[in-house]
Amino acid sequence: MSFLSIRGLTRDYGDGMPALSELSLEVPNGGLLSLIGESGSGKTTLLRIIAGLETQDQGEVFLNGEKILNPSEKLVPGYEEIQLVEQQHNLYPHSTVEENITRPLLSYDAEFKRNQVEAMLDLLDLQKHRKKLPSQLSGGQQQKVAIGRALGVAPQVLLMDEPFSSLDGIQKRGIIDELRAIFEQLQVTVVMVTHDVDEAMMLTEQLGVLHHGKLVQKGLGRDIHQNPVNFYVANLFSDLNPVPHLSNVYIRSSDLLLGRNQGKLKGEVVSSQYLSAYNHLQIRIDGSPILWKAKDGERKYQVGDQIFLTYKEEELLKF
Ligand code: ADP
Ligand code: MG
Repeated sequence: MSFLSIRGLTRDYGDGMPALSELSLEVPNGGLLSLIGESGSGKTTLLRIIAGLETQDQGEVFLNGEKILNPSEKLVPGYEEIQLVEQQHNLYPHSTVEENITRPLLSYDAEFKRNQVEAMLDLLDLQKHRKKLPSQLSGGQQQKVAIGRALGVAPQVLLMDEPFSSLDGIQKRGIIDELRAIFEQLQVTVVMVTHDVDEAMMLTEQLGVLHHGKLVQKGLGRDIHQNPVNFYVANLFSDLNPVPHLSNVYIRSSDLLLGRNQGKLKGEVVSSQYLSAYNHLQIRIDGSPILWKAKDGERKYQVGDQIFLTYKEEELLKF
């Protein structure tokens, strides 16, 4: 049995489709895993059950061979060893950074408490903000306080529910780089859930994909990107264009080569959006009602231009 073992979890709230459906997952000690899924795919439910904060209908969770009891089986729900940073991180608004991080440690020995608070402030580079209130911090700093508060009790498992969703791109990249190094240093087991593939791939190499409460694929991010099991998984990673006259065959917009004079398919640029790294084009392929999406890295094409598209056969995705 691996360190964190999730077996056959089902949770049905009775609203038509189960939030989780026979979901099994193994995470090794010190493993870092991101689970990706669209809104409603069961991410929050899964983390709350792992943490012992929500009751499942079927299935079990084990940490180090010990069964995690759910709220119907345990007087005080939850475990110190398993810390969940919820999406709304719920910092105490009238307590300083230092006080927020100290709160969960109140029942601990004074020296351990002092050491842990200092360690968290150092680790997360929050020393200079220790006397501030949450409202005086940036979103990224607030998120770090929430993570520091969870890590302060030295848990074995850290669960994070969409921790970066309220942060802008620059803040996000900064905090993710910082956290990855911290998690490796602490050797803590981490499961993050998110709807954002890039965020997941920036934080962890191991990914899982949730769809309708099922784990549909798990593995290294690059392997899932290259060999997605179905359309849903592929579409989380990139825009897909349906190849005319072939059913269920697609090409990623990032795998298209654009040309002015020749190519496999001819079309017309119907819209162009200026994005930070490329122009996002929509193209009407001759004889096809569907608009294709393409990335124009050189920003060469204008609306109304004729354009040719080429791709390699081995890059076609068939489902
Ligand atoms: P995610 O975090 O991926 O958005 P959730 O786990 O929050 O997904 O929700 C999965 C499904 O379960 C959704 O259809 C949601 O409406 C339903 N659900 C979640 N929590 C509850 C609840 N407490 N009561 C009833 N339905 C719920
Ligand atoms: Mg959620």
